[in-house]
Amino acid sequence: MSFNSTLANWYLENKRDLPWRNSKNPYNIWLSEIILQQTQVKQGLPYFEKFISNFPTVYDLASAPEIEILKLWQGLGYYSRARNLHFSAKYITKYLNGVFPKTKKELMLLKGVGDYTASAIASICYEESVAVVDGNVYRVLSRYFGIDTPVNSSKGVKQFKMLATSLLPNSDLGDYNQAIMDFGAKQCKPISPSCIECPLSIDCKANATGSVKILPVKLKKTKITKKYYNFIVFNSQDNETYLEQRKSKGIWHQLYQFPLIETNKSASTKDLLEHHRKTLIFPETFKELNLFNSTEIVHKLSHLELKVKFWILETSTPIKNAVKWSEIKSYPVPVVIDRFINNFQN
Ligand code: SF4
Repeated sequence: MSFNSTLANWYLENKRDLPWRNSKNPYNIWLSEIILQQTQVKQGLPYFEKFISNFPTVYDLASAPEIEILKLWQGLGYYSRARNLHFSAKYITKYLNGVFPKTKKELMLLKGVGDYTASAIASICYEESVAVVDGNVYRVLSRYFGIDTPVNSSKGVKQFKMLATSLLPNSDLGDYNQAIMDFGAKQCKPISPSCIECPLSIDCKANATGSVKILPVKLKKTKITKKYYNFIVFNSQDNETYLEQRKSKGIWHQLYQFPLIETNKSASTKDLLEHHRKTLIFPETFKELNLFNSTEIVHKLSHLELKVKFWILETSTPIKNAVKWSEIKSYPVPVVIDRFINNFQN
């Protein structure tokens, strides 16, 4: 049996039951694909359900305030995805009468939609003959065909895209693309794939040559930078605190945070008081500054390792532009701050 027909048979029996597969509505597929960029299905599933129930159509999403979208996205990371989703929803409703583009080429004009996402939507919703190549597909192809070109090199990206395209069947494009992705996720898994029970094992090069564990090959990731973040949590006698919105590009853009002091090493109380002496960042009169978490929280992002401390700054004077502690949960905040708020309020 050929690679394609074996995959098709496997898919019939093992297809993942996912809520966005109940329709070919491009809005649902687009939403699911954006959520699943850099996110495992298990983690993304509840977010898809929240978004669909809060914003059943592209019009609902377009008309929602950004703060509401960021709040629903909280915890999923890579917040630019949420902002792009909102931007594109507004674009589709305003300029395209709410109708999604129908080809890969046109889909790629939407903000936040790259080759992979456009190929997925075009093949699943419109049966366009375009291959999707995600991490699962790279793994299946590199192992089955025994290819050791690094999948994250420009040569590898081209080579695997050409191979995936050459394998496309003449019909059922959407099912084929979903079949190979599901096969990678459930059968040809990153660690300990079930080669003994695999229907492709007879012709699989990696299985024959004992190279399953070393394929796919990936170039080393970029260096991880360490940063020291000190969040100053104002706490007034009126049960108020203060949040600022992150305006700079980079991580957590547009999310809210407590005033931040970044230091080049783990900070002490003395260091922060010295910082205040130069910048006057604290309210005019403050009573005391105490470290909340005696052990630094290590928060890892793709290219950053943040060492985080929360400092409670007690103040007797009212805080300018204060946020009530009772209302703080309505603000979209980074997950490390959300966890702190839960601990602090309990
Ligand atoms: S035999 Fe193993 S490595 Fe090869 S395709 Fe099947 S699960 Fe993947």
